[in-house]
Amino acid sequence: MTESFTPTWMLDAIYHLTPEQLKDQGIKAILTDLDNTLIAWNNPDGTAELHDWLDQMQAAGIPVMIVSNNTADRVDRVAKPLGLPFVSRAYKPGTKGLHEALKELNLKPEEAVMVGDQYLTDVFGANRAGIPSILVKPLIETDQWNTKINRFVEKGVRRRVMKKHPELTWRNSID
Ligand SMILES: [Mg+2]
Repeated sequence: MTESFTPTWMLDAIYHLTPEQLKDQGIKAILTDLDNTLIAWNNPDGTAELHDWLDQMQAAGIPVMIVSNNTADRVDRVAKPLGLPFVSRAYKPGTKGLHEALKELNLKPEEAVMVGDQYLTDVFGANRAGIPSILVKPLIETDQWNTKINRFVEKGVRRRVMKKHPELTWRNSID
């Protein structure tokens, strides 16, 4: 049971991923959660750091696709200005949205990586779809009300994963 919630890697922030690290792991595309992973939920425009990171991925030919449980309107508000493709209403930890993203990118599960800040949706969903996963620290601590309930359950899951996998620690690369 604990394995279902265990990420492949734990990374301080998505911005630490580099094209070189991904190529070394045979990863050709990034699927990413939106809120608190790519952007702070209260800053839909993102930071200069985000823009620089996206430029770097684009230059390296690594697609970045948002896979979010949020509504199309909400995701589009962020994705459009950034020029990013997206799957909304993905129903993670269901795998439908993740499979849709893989199909669009024409990739096998192991050729992509799913990045997100939640065990219950992002990591669990990725594991069910056979996609390597990266858990990141939430960009900001305060949250939308609907995520607060999840965070409480997340704490219990985190305790179990940490106990079983003491080797998994927050790092700044996936090397
Ligand atoms: Mg999130």
